[in-house]
Amino acid sequence: MTLHIGYEYICKKCGYKFIPYKEKSLCPHCGFPADENFDFIPRAIKSIKFNIKEVGSIHPGVWLVGSFADEILEHIFEILDSYDKTYPKPNFDEFAELVLEQRIPEHEKFLREHIFEILKEIVKELEKEGLYSIKGK
Ligand SMILES: [Zn+2]
Repeated sequence: MTLHIGYEYICKKCGYKFIPYKEKSLCPHCGFPADENFDFIPRAIKSIKFNIKEVGSIHPGVWLVGSFADEILEHIFEILDSYDKTYPKPNFDEFAELVLEQRIPEHEKFLREHIFEILKEIVKELEKEGLYSIKGK
């Protein structure tokens, strides 16, 4: 079993999907303000904690993508997990950017930055709880 996040938000101006994860989020593609916000970070943390407890790693192994939020979460699992397994530790930001470049096509470049922002929030929370650590920031 895994904890999924069934959510997507579509920008009212440009039609691209993103996660308005904080108050007054702006569309990462066109800058148009979102008219709602969604508690993605705490939900993602909950899902990650669940995986650590059940599977022993951040990536649950099998992850069926059922929504846009699940898709974002999969990129995040992948980055956190592969960084965790890389020795010696490279610079986390550079590592994350490289993985995102490989996973997200050039025409959706704005999504790379969007996911990177969300990723940093999640890492901050996980570090606070002693569940993750990045070196060489
Ligand atoms: Zn937009």
